[in-house]
Amino acid sequence: MTLTEKILARASHRESVQPGDNIWIDVDVLMTHDVCGPGTIGVFKQHFGPNAKVWDRDKVVIIPDHYIFTADKMASRNVEVLRQFAAEQNIKYFYDVGTPSYKGVCHIALPEEGHTRPGEVLFGTDSHTCTAGAFGEFATGIGNTDAGFILGAGKLWVKVPETMRFIFHGTLPPYLMAKDLILAVIGDIGCDGATYKAMEFDGDGVYALNIEERMTLCNMVIEAGGKNGVIAPDKVTLDYVNARNAGQKPFTTVHSDKNARYCFEKVYDVGKLEPVVAKPHSPDNRAYVSEIRGTKLDRAYIGSCTGGKLTDFRAAAGVLKGKSVRIDTFVVPATSEIMAGLKRERINGQTLEEVFLSAGAKLGQPSCAACLGGPSDTFGRLNGPISCISTTNRNFPGRMGHKEARVYLASPLTVAASALTGVITDPRDCL
Ligand code: SF4
Repeated sequence: MTLTEKILARASHRESVQPGDNIWIDVDVLMTHDVCGPGTIGVFKQHFGPNAKVWDRDKVVIIPDHYIFTADKMASRNVEVLRQFAAEQNIKYFYDVGTPSYKGVCHIALPEEGHTRPGEVLFGTDSHTCTAGAFGEFATGIGNTDAGFILGAGKLWVKVPETMRFIFHGTLPPYLMAKDLILAVIGDIGCDGATYKAMEFDGDGVYALNIEERMTLCNMVIEAGGKNGVIAPDKVTLDYVNARNAGQKPFTTVHSDKNARYCFEKVYDVGKLEPVVAKPHSPDNRAYVSEIRGTKLDRAYIGSCTGGKLTDFRAAAGVLKGKSVRIDTFVVPATSEIMAGLKRERINGQTLEEVFLSAGAKLGQPSCAACLGGPSDTFGRLNGPISCISTTNRNFPGRMGHKEARVYLASPLTVAASALTGVITDPRDCL
């Protein structure tokens, strides 16, 4: 069996499963946030009763993160619904807005707060829940109906996916990041290339990446239609997980069998790849930066669960250090822990925050901010038909605000290099 099949077999109390099997699986963690939480709670109450209790209050994690720093009344009401539900159900892990426990973007908050463990099953009411596959678990996004059912029953009916394997060999050059690797994969197989498939990443090029970069790889499998992304755990994974594991919960690491069956396999030599951009209006609309360099831009955006981690900001700050941006540049840390890192980590004596501010960038508060557009007062939102280069994960029309805006997806290195020139720029010109 593959790693994904083994996790699903365990969660269904079977010796083995095969792709295509429909099985009930036990859920280890269910995450929801301010956009889908109210709907999920509504489904739960409708079907399990107004006074029903969740199946396990320690396995429900509620993380408001999307529409947070806005005057929009409906957005505030969503958070209030979460607040009431968390109090009524005595939910242990609720990272409320305006309190010291506020975190920011759920997919980064989950591992930081110790809710991701190898071998487990994590569902979340958000398509980028697949990010947590970087910890060697089965993690995927679901809708409100499924999540409402899990709240009451702690189980879900799933079909076992086939697994595709992507092997990265070689040493990543300093001008490339995990974002380039996953954009290259999506460009190769297309937005529907992995529909309802597990995407397993392997090879020395993957295991040389730090845990945040591995999260970036798994984060964007959904942009290829993948059911889940997964990387078998190694010492890097275990060091991270053991340092944070909420409640010191025991877990079992799982690896694919040597003779596991894959429905597809592709091998990449990372030393031969080039910086990649996804042009408007689809993540699979790939171009190499060298092909479209010089394309005029109005804005740069560095943030989100894909490109708003400390590794992303270290890379961007390395490019911006001592220089000035030529276009509006927005910097949004994914979580409060990353925000603290921006104030702590230094390059040549300057904190990362100082590097960004002295380069002329604007720094926002930890949240999804403009990644999903949001209300019109959202920090960094594209409120006009402008061109933006962004470290986020989607560039469909209207995704970051205005439906005629043009969004180019790229690595933090490419976005920072382009912020300095105002046109799409190859990071090799700046490093
Ligand atoms: S940062 Fe963007 S992609 Fe990530 S959870 Fe928030 S809205 Fe979704």
